[in-house]
Amino acid sequence: MSATPDPGEDRRAAAWRIAGAVTDPEIPVLTIADLGVLRDVRVGDGPVEVDITPTYCGCPAMNMIAVEIELALEKAGFGRPKVNTVLQPAWTTDWMSEDGRAKLKDYGIAPPPKGGGRRALFGVDTVPCPQCGSIDTGVIADFGSTACKALWRCNACREPFDYFKCH
Ligand SMILES: [Zn+2]
Repeated sequence: MSATPDPGEDRRAAAWRIAGAVTDPEIPVLTIADLGVLRDVRVGDGPVEVDITPTYCGCPAMNMIAVEIELALEKAGFGRPKVNTVLQPAWTTDWMSEDGRAKLKDYGIAPPPKGGGRRALFGVDTVPCPQCGSIDTGVIADFGSTACKALWRCNACREPFDYFKCH
């Protein structure tokens, strides 16, 4: 570590904050920082470079997210940024922040469990109802309103809800 302050650091933090505030068009309460889609921001002499990793289900939305990032950074005076799509390592729901999980639940979508949620895909795990918290729930359809969501129903409050599937 160098003792001299890095003059690029403040700009990088600002660029990170601005890029990270872009929201997912499918789930507008979540930012790409919440989702863990924003992987890196590099600020140097050239254009600002932003790395994003698509969620496994969000491919059509990713083009829109990339454009939103470019516009947001340009508006903030960062010139014309370069947005890279990084596919490896693949995005996992574990990258979703605690904040993001809480927002998802408030939005009425059951968030994926942290860590190794794959079991939930096979119906081994229980998915608590985002409305009443009951774990007496069951899957209705493997695909909900979008491919990344499954449609579940709570047997306690009888309300259907979306479940953000793990991957
Ligand atoms: Zn319920």
